[in-house]
Amino acid sequence: MMLALFNEYRLGLVDLDESTLVDVTSALPDHDPGLGAGFWVRMCRDLKDLRPRIEEVASSGKSLRLDGVKLRAPVLNPTKIVASAFNYAGHVDEMKPRGVSGWKLNFDVFLKAPSSITDPNTDIVLPEVDGEIHYEGELACVIGRGGSNISEGDALDHVIGWTILLDMTLRGEGDRSRRKSYDGFTPVGPWMATAEQVPSWEDLQITLWLNGDVRQDVKAGEMIRSVPELIAHTSSVMTLVPGDVIATGAPPGVGSVQQGDQVRASISGIGTLEVSFS
Ligand code: MN
Repeated sequence: MMLALFNEYRLGLVDLDESTLVDVTSALPDHDPGLGAGFWVRMCRDLKDLRPRIEEVASSGKSLRLDGVKLRAPVLNPTKIVASAFNYAGHVDEMKPRGVSGWKLNFDVFLKAPSSITDPNTDIVLPEVDGEIHYEGELACVIGRGGSNISEGDALDHVIGWTILLDMTLRGEGDRSRRKSYDGFTPVGPWMATAEQVPSWEDLQITLWLNGDVRQDVKAGEMIRSVPELIAHTSSVMTLVPGDVIATGAPPGVGSVQQGDQVRASISGIGTLEVSFS
């Protein structure tokens, strides 16, 4: 299933041709889109049980054209966005000449502020700051069942879905949590492909275009720490809870955005996320 949030945080099931969706909000036992939006977290936790009802509602629902709805980021109030530093060899290589050295080039995980989450098709106002602001187009997974000290062998059972995340980044000195948490710095979408849609995450092709030119293009399997390793490592530090988001790191080809630029990131089998900058 491709699950989207749209309009006032209604739940939609996206059709396979990716041009329409069906409103399946009534399949949820509770839908409170207000502050906190716990319905989304409960859906992530309970999706396996909710699935038959979602499919039943979808079978009799009316299709809405995607170009007639406002798509929302398909993650809502996660307790954390965990992101990965230096998880592709090619990205390590491209950052060395930019003056990044020592421990800063090592793999690590860090947090982005959930308030930086931004809907698809948004025009993002760049903050007035010194330094280059870069796109990083990344594969992200959404946690269904939570846990701590999750083993690598069990890790993928804790993933409820996959989506596309732009880890927008202010380059320069200082803490990643600030440089990557400006408002608008985490576009996510266009929807979440549920786990069974992605039988082999390693085979996903991640491609990013800046103003129509390909800048990033890798297979997810090229990452240094696999998704199961990321989940095992992260959950050895902090308990993962339903709805948490893990971004898997920047493929090589990062670069700066300016006012007027358009970024399109696509992952095979998931979809395409587009934003612009002003
Ligand atoms: Mn990143």
